[in-house]
Amino acid sequence: MGPGRDIALPMRPEQHPLAALVDDAARAPLVPNFEPDPPDDEQPLYLPRKKIYPQRVTGTYRRVKWAVLFVTLGIYYLLPFVRWDRGPNAPAQAVLIDFPNRRFYFFFIEIWPQEFYYLTGLLILAAMGLFLMNAVAGRVWCGYLCPQTAWTDLFQTIERWTEGDRREHLQRDGQPWTLDRLARSATKHFLWLMVAWWTGGAWVLYFSDAPTLVRDLATFQAPLIAYVFIGLLTFTTYTLAGWMREQVCVYMCPWPRIQAALTDEYALNVTYRYDRGEPRASLKKAAALHEHGLPAGDCIDCLQCVHVCPTGVDIRGGPNLGCIQCGLCIDACDAVMEKVGRPARLIAYDTDINIKRRQQGQTPSYSIIRPRTVLYAVIIVVVSGLMSYALATRRNDAVDVLHDRNPLFVRLSDGSLRNAYAVRILNKSLKGKTFVLSITGLPDADLDVIGSSRFSGAHPLISVGPDQSREVRVLVTAREQTPPGASIPIIFTIAPVSGGTAVSAADHFFGP
Ligand code: SF4
Ligand code: SF4
Repeated sequence: MGPGRDIALPMRPEQHPLAALVDDAARAPLVPNFEPDPPDDEQPLYLPRKKIYPQRVTGTYRRVKWAVLFVTLGIYYLLPFVRWDRGPNAPAQAVLIDFPNRRFYFFFIEIWPQEFYYLTGLLILAAMGLFLMNAVAGRVWCGYLCPQTAWTDLFQTIERWTEGDRREHLQRDGQPWTLDRLARSATKHFLWLMVAWWTGGAWVLYFSDAPTLVRDLATFQAPLIAYVFIGLLTFTTYTLAGWMREQVCVYMCPWPRIQAALTDEYALNVTYRYDRGEPRASLKKAAALHEHGLPAGDCIDCLQCVHVCPTGVDIRGGPNLGCIQCGLCIDACDAVMEKVGRPARLIAYDTDINIKRRQQGQTPSYSIIRPRTVLYAVIIVVVSGLMSYALATRRNDAVDVLHDRNPLFVRLSDGSLRNAYAVRILNKSLKGKTFVLSITGLPDADLDVIGSSRFSGAHPLISVGPDQSREVRVLVTAREQTPPGASIPIIFTIAPVSGGTAVSAADHFFGP
């Protein structure tokens, strides 16, 4: 028997004056107009789309959503204009993806292509952060932080400004096209396109100096690729946030499926507390039931929670793939509860376990600290710690060595053996540097750098410009006899002439 259906009648139902009312309440389905699902093989893959007219709502969660929206979109649109002084030879943009020079700048951090393991670390952190959020509060990412949600929310707000709130918009949509309706619709699409265009415009500013690119875009001197990307992103933003909206969450995004597989029964989800709400009855019906000592739930079946939902979900039907956990139905229901003088949070972030506990007279329990949340938190702390340590101790100089594949060695006319290597030296500092190159592991070997005749004693000198890398070809000649089939480990070391820590790379010297 479903929740709230076990109503004890004082007399046989058909004899009681409220029999019809009680039967109505007892039979009230959890979802209005509920129809049992057809067998699996008869279910369509896609339901016909019903246009959603989300109603304006105020309340705690709406305020949180506004705050998150302003902060996240504010960061996105303004961040390219934040300046960061790195000295005369480096860009002054705080966040910049510099493809031509193959650098990523993030405030005081500069990532080179050789350091892409930082990106791996960031991806692990992002995944673990998402898993942790999911383990604590379900799809809270979807409800507050997901770009699709943020821009859809903005577009729906524009729609309410121009076409009116739910009721007005519904009425207008049911009427023939008039000049007023046309003007409102045109204004809406114009504003949507402006937001979409600015969104695409902001994106390209992350790839070049923002003030310069804005000037070049305005004077039509920017590279063609910038206009192409702005056009593409304008189109995708306008389509995804203006037209497709909840369809992206329900049909296109993989996260709801992954999230459903990752969640557990302790994760807080937006939950209709059916132990309180059922059986649903309007105020009038509830008063009549109470008068005769019969139970009635707190839900007055006003459907406000459904009308404000941006994805059109009736949360009273239980967990739903379309529910993005935005909490707006909580605000709507709280306002209703306040009006009818009943306790708030008939819909709340809660768990089914707590509903069962309350039904059994136990106090609800909230287990945020569980093995999986601890595991995710530990991974986040460990990866952040490793990345911070690597960043704090990273050196400005680095060397990579690659042995020539063919030939492995050359025998010279005097009988000595020579191996050749490509040696890449990285100078990540903003000053030019000269390095002394040396090797260990092969006594009395000669070192030559092709194209360079500068030496410090027997060691070649190699200069590398500020924030640059330089590849040189190095010849190593062994003066001593090497045993047949030799593969001798050697270490290349570069040390800055001006002082500082030397760095090394290992390779081998091959014999016949
Ligand atoms: S807003 Fe609250 S009272 Fe109204 S239908 Fe939804 S759950 Fe019931
Ligand atoms: S059911 Fe409630 S929490 Fe879920 S998407 Fe709709 S309004 Fe948001």
